[in-house]
Amino acid sequence: MQKLIDKAKIEHTLSKSEIVDILKEDSINQYLFKSADEVRKNFTGNEVHLRALIEFSNICRCDCKYCGIRRDNPKVERYRLEKDEILKLADFAVLSGYKTIVLQSGEDIFFTAEYLAEIITAIKKYDVAVTLSIGERSYEEYQVLKNAGADRFLLRIETTDENLYKKMHPGMSFENRKRCLYDLKSLGFETGTGSLVGLPEQTIESLADDILFYKELNADMVGIGPLIVHPETPLKDEKNGDLILAIKVLALTRLLLPDINIPATTAMETLHPQGRIMALQAGANVIMPNVTFEKCKKNYEIYPDKVSVDYSKLETDLKQIGRTISKKHGFRGNSDRPLT
Ligand code: SAM
Repeated sequence: MQKLIDKAKIEHTLSKSEIVDILKEDSINQYLFKSADEVRKNFTGNEVHLRALIEFSNICRCDCKYCGIRRDNPKVERYRLEKDEILKLADFAVLSGYKTIVLQSGEDIFFTAEYLAEIITAIKKYDVAVTLSIGERSYEEYQVLKNAGADRFLLRIETTDENLYKKMHPGMSFENRKRCLYDLKSLGFETGTGSLVGLPEQTIESLADDILFYKELNADMVGIGPLIVHPETPLKDEKNGDLILAIKVLALTRLLLPDINIPATTAMETLHPQGRIMALQAGANVIMPNVTFEKCKKNYEIYPDKVSVDYSKLETDLKQIGRTISKKHGFRGNSDRPLT
């Protein structure tokens, strides 16, 4: 098994059955994490990129079975920020030194591509990258967003098991999800995808397919999150995802896509106080602190007890593991290419 990992460190390829073998064998976990950490260091360096996350609307037309802000959860107090409020948060993030603003929301079509374009244009007056995470739109809408200056787009495939995808996402189409990702790629967005680890009935084989899908798409960013069960969703009686398995998926993703950006996700730290640091030492190089107004944060509850980043603790923790906070925009391969 160690030989397989050594091969992946050099060639950045593994077959499906090799990935399955590694995912199933826990005795090699430390070797896998150490190897992914070395690849991360060689390809992206010791800098950790901080992205300021603004959750600007929790209104969603989708009904994903795992998500706390799903359309059919009547207990959610819904909110939608005004353009000026979003820009105020972006100002704050820029003044605080962030080099990327991430605009995330439920699938809220009140925010037309044209309206979002106005917001993007206003933010792009600053020397920052803009990442969008707003869900599925048409090619034409994505084009408007790209033309306005958006640099990156996050859209997790969630799972590549088509049957499971259908069960988890009533009324949505797996084909359309993939279409969106390929459209985003072809429009020149740095494109992020990723999966939920621990969905009911998800197999190790399908997690291996997920990793191979990231490679096939040539994803620029991959976010892996363990499922955290929300009590007001149809998955309320399921178990949380396995943190170690999620970190293994992350580490294998780093071996196969050595220069991409991989966040240590909030869901990982929510499951375990050391979860974020463990991810940073197994291939991750990005953290996304939430800069949304406090009154909104509590209503953007995709899962319960979401932790926030304690900035001063983060600085100390990063120092302890030999990492620094980047002052760059942090595109793929730790590049600081001219912004659009
Ligand atoms: N609407 C946009 C989209 O679909 O891409 C962005 C917002 S969506 C709430 C962001 C991510 O939250 C999803 O990609 C999903 O993986 C994650 N998420 C939702 N519910 C979750 C849960 N219960 N546990 C862990 N992650 C969850």
